[in-house]
Amino acid sequence: MTRAPVCSCGGKLRKVTLGATELAPLFGLRGVLEGPIPGLRCGTCEQETLEGQTIDRMLIAVALSVMSQPRILSTEEARFLRKAVLGMTQAALAEHMGINPTTVADWERGERPLSKEHDYELRGVALSSLVVRFSPRFRAFVQNLPRILRAPRTLAPPKRAKRYVVRASEMPAA
Ligand SMILES: [Zn+2]
Repeated sequence: MTRAPVCSCGGKLRKVTLGATELAPLFGLRGVLEGPIPGLRCGTCEQETLEGQTIDRMLIAVALSVMSQPRILSTEEARFLRKAVLGMTQAALAEHMGINPTTVADWERGERPLSKEHDYELRGVALSSLVVRFSPRFRAFVQNLPRILRAPRTLAPPKRAKRYVVRASEMPAA
C-alpha cells in the first residue's frame, strides 16, 4: 500500500465499516447498497468516502442486480446502464447500437419502453463493457459483440455442421 489517504480538508482518513450507502449519488439509481461496506472516514471533518476499488465492486453488484431483472428495463435502469456502466452519451450509445438517438431519449423519458431486442442488446453491450473493463483479455470478443447480438436470426442452422478454423492471431496477448 501507498501512504495513508488524506481528506480534501487535510484530515487523516481512517478505515471504517459503513452500514449502507445510497446509490443515487454514485449511480443515479434510487436505492441503497446494504453493508457492511469498507469505507473511509475523515478524523477531522467526519466526511465518509469510498475507495475507487470499492466503487468498482459496488458497480458490478448493482449492474448484476439491474441486468438480472426478468422484464423490460425501466427508464432509470436503462439510464444507469448507459451512464454509470457504459459512460456514454445518448448519441454515443445510439451510434454503438446502430439505432436512432431519439429512441434512446424516448426510453429515458419514459415515452416508450425498450423493445425486447433493444433491451437484450443494451444488456449485452453493458455486460461487454464491464467484461472489458475488468478483464481486458476479452477485448477482441467484446468488439464483436454488437455484431453477435444484432445478427438477425432469420436463417436456420446448416444441415451439415461446419468445421471451424480459428486463427492463433485471434488469441489475446499472453
Ligand atoms: Zn476531512
